[in-house]
Amino acid sequence: MTDLDLSPPLAPQPDAPASALRELAGLLPGRVLLPGNPGWDRARLGWTVSVDQHPIAVVTVHDAEDVVAAVTCAARHGLTVSPQPVGHGATTALTGTVLLRTGSLQELTIDVERRVARVGAGVKWGTLLAALEPTGLLALAGSSPDPSIVGFTLGGGLSWFSRALGMTAHSVVAFDIVDAEGTQRRLSPASDPDLFWAMCGGGGDFGVVLAVEIMLDHVGPIVGGRMLWPLEMARPVLRAFRQITADAPDELTLWAHLFRFPPMPELPELIRGRAFVAVDMTFLGSETEANRLVSRLRQLPAQVIDTVGLVPLSQLGGIAAEPVDPMPTQEYSELLRGLDDATLDRLVDAVGADADVPLTVVQIRHLGGALTRATAEDGPHGAIAEEYSVFCLGVPVAPGLPESIEAAFGEVRTALSEQRSGRTLFNFLGAESDLGSTFSAEARARLRRVKATTDPAGVFRSNRPV
Ligand SMILES: Cc1cc2nc3c(=O)[nH]c(=O)nc-3n(C[C@H](O)[C@H](O)[C@H](O)COP(=O)(O)OP(=O)(O)OC[C@H]3O[C@@H](n4cnc5c(N)ncnc54)[C@H](O)[C@@H]3O)c2cc1C
Repeated sequence: MTDLDLSPPLAPQPDAPASALRELAGLLPGRVLLPGNPGWDRARLGWTVSVDQHPIAVVTVHDAEDVVAAVTCAARHGLTVSPQPVGHGATTALTGTVLLRTGSLQELTIDVERRVARVGAGVKWGTLLAALEPTGLLALAGSSPDPSIVGFTLGGGLSWFSRALGMTAHSVVAFDIVDAEGTQRRLSPASDPDLFWAMCGGGGDFGVVLAVEIMLDHVGPIVGGRMLWPLEMARPVLRAFRQITADAPDELTLWAHLFRFPPMPELPELIRGRAFVAVDMTFLGSETEANRLVSRLRQLPAQVIDTVGLVPLSQLGGIAAEPVDPMPTQEYSELLRGLDDATLDRLVDAVGADADVPLTVVQIRHLGGALTRATAEDGPHGAIAEEYSVFCLGVPVAPGLPESIEAAFGEVRTALSEQRSGRTLFNFLGAESDLGSTFSAEARARLRRVKATTDPAGVFRSNRPV
C-alpha cells in the first residue's frame, strides 16, 4: 500500500475565522480563552515553558459534553483540536490549533476483581498510584507522578516495570474517545483493531480520549531507591551498572544518571550546586534478593546516599524525584544497541567531572526484557531490541545556554556513536522532533492510513503528528 500525504489538512490555521471562535466561546461560556485575554500568555504554554506554543484558543473542558461541543464546532469550521492535559510534551506543532485542556476529566475507578483501572484524561500517575496502594495492584507507571496517564500511555509509556511487564500502552483494555465527527465511542482491540493499535503508542492524532481502561498486575513488595556518589566516581559506578544490567532479571530495573544540580535554594543542601553519579532502581521481589543483585554497586566507596528499601506504590515518584513544577527544558534522547566499557569511558570524558557541560541530567535507562518480546501487532513501537536509552536534559535559562546545551548533546552523541541506533521512543522525542526516528517505515505508513480513515479532514493534531 502507498503512503498517504496528509499535509494539506494538517497545515496550521493562524487566521481562524473570528466567527468560529465566537461560536466556540458561546457554546462553552467561561471556558474559552483567546489571544489577548487576561492570563493568555500562561494558558497557552505547556509544562515545558520554553516551548513557545501559539494556539488560536485554549479551551478548558469539564466533561464529555464539553469535548463533544468543542470537537463538533471545530470540525464544522475546519479548525484543528489538540488535547494537552499537562504539557510535558509541549511542541510548536500545536501552533494554530485549539488547545483542549483535559485536566478536569478526573474519573477514576478501580475494579479490583477484574484488575482494571478506568482513568479520565486528566488523571495523573501520582493520583492513580495512591489509589492503587491499598489494593496490592500495580499499573505500569513511569518515573514521574506528574504526567497524565492518558498522555503518557498514548506515547507508549516506558515504565519502571516495562522490563518485566512491557510498555504501558500494551496494558490498555479500552479507550473511550470523541472521534472526528464528534461522536463518543468505546474502542477495544476487537471493535477497532487498526485504530486501537495506532493509539497504543502512536500518540493523540486520532481522537480526544475521555478515559482509558488499563489492566493491572498483582505485585508483592516493590524495592526501590537511589544510590548516589560524587560525580568523580562516574567511571566505576557506570561500569558496575553495566555489569549488573548485563544479566539482570526482568524484575530488576536500573537507571544511571550523571547529575549537575543547580545552586537553587529549593534543593536540599546536600545536593545543591553539586554534581553526582546516581543509580536509581526498582525490583519486583524481596529486599534480600534486591540487595544481592546490586551488591557490586554497594561495594563502591564514597557513597553519599542510599535510599534503597521497600517503596509504597504512592511513593514511586520519589525514587527519581523529578521536578513537577513547569520549567524550561532542552532535551535529547536516543536508543542504544548496547554498552561497553570503552563507550562509557568516552561518555565520562565528555560529560563527567572533568568536563564543563551545561547538562543537568544525563540518564541511561536499562531496557530489554519484555520490551524485546513485543510484536509489531502490539503497537507502532513493536519490539524494542535496543538494550539501553540515553536521555539528556539542559535548562536553558540564560542567553547562550541553548547553544551550549545543544553543543553538549553533540558531545554525548559523539561519545555514544558506536552504540546509537538512531531511534528515539515517542515519549522521549524533543520538542521539535517528528516521528521519523521513532517508528519503522511500515508502522508509519499504517499510522497514516489509520489517520486518513478515521480523521480525513485533520480535526486532531497530536504533538507528534503522524
Ligand atoms: C519529568 C518527566 C518524566 C517523564 N518520565 C517518563 C517515563 O518514565 N516514561 C515515559 O514513557 N515518558 C516519560 N515522560 C514523557 C511523558 O510521558 C510524555 O511527555 C507525555 O506525553 C506526557 O504526558 P502529559 O500528560 O504531560 O502530556 P501533554 O503534553 O499534556 O500531552 C502530550 C500529548 O498526548 C496527547 N494527549 C494527551 N491527552 C490526550 C487526550 N485526552 N486525547 C488525545 N490525545 C491526548 C496529545 O497528542 C498531546 O500532545 C516524562 C516526562 C517528564 C516531563
